[in-house]
Amino acid sequence: MNIVLLGSPASGKGTQANLLCEKFNLYHLSTGDVSRKLAETDQRIKEIIDSGKLIPAEEITMHVINFLTNEKSDLKDILFEGFPRFITQYEALDNFLKNKGDDIDLVISLEVSQEEAVKRISSRRVCSNCGENFNILTKPSKTDGKCDKCGSGLIQRADDSEESVKVRFEYYKNNTKGLIDYVDRLGKLTKVNGERSIDEIQKDLVSAIEKLRNE
Ligand code: AMP
Repeated sequence: MNIVLLGSPASGKGTQANLLCEKFNLYHLSTGDVSRKLAETDQRIKEIIDSGKLIPAEEITMHVINFLTNEKSDLKDILFEGFPRFITQYEALDNFLKNKGDDIDLVISLEVSQEEAVKRISSRRVCSNCGENFNILTKPSKTDGKCDKCGSGLIQRADDSEESVKVRFEYYKNNTKGLIDYVDRLGKLTKVNGERSIDEIQKDLVSAIEKLRNE
């Protein structure tokens, strides 16, 4: 079972993806995490991410396909988060999976208004060491400013600055929105209202996946 989770910046993709992967034992392939890892040793990628821009579409596609071919060729159940973001990336993934006799089974779009997302971003914090996500309003850490998992300090992501957020929304509107319409026309899209509690959203996502599994 392969699932794609789409959504704007701060739509809650990461939080929901973690919960779903744990519940359904899916492999969590987040291209945001992959990109941040690459940025640790690649200044060009770091600058792209920090400014809110996207890495060239084919470059990320190549990373994903190489990773699935060379390092995780036996994976069966994957949740893709943050990939694909372009129609070209979707087609490349779809072709790759179909060649293996597999498919993209479900695409979920977490729908959140830009106003709500911007509000969330200003209260978002991330662990400077392990990358765990927190939100000072909706998902605070147990000790102020410290990560629950490893105790390191919490910081704001560089791409959560006001300028970078504007750029990220432009990319979302210009690319991912087109992909969402495309997937909708394919009849594979499930839209979920992301402006509710984490639990309520999770329930809808779980039932969409259970419905798929029972088909
Ligand atoms: P995210 O955590 O999903 O918001 O991703 C963080 C950053 O990683 C993005 O702003 C891009 O610079 C890069 N990135 C992640 N996924 C992709 C993708 N599918 N295509 C291009 N760049 C990506």
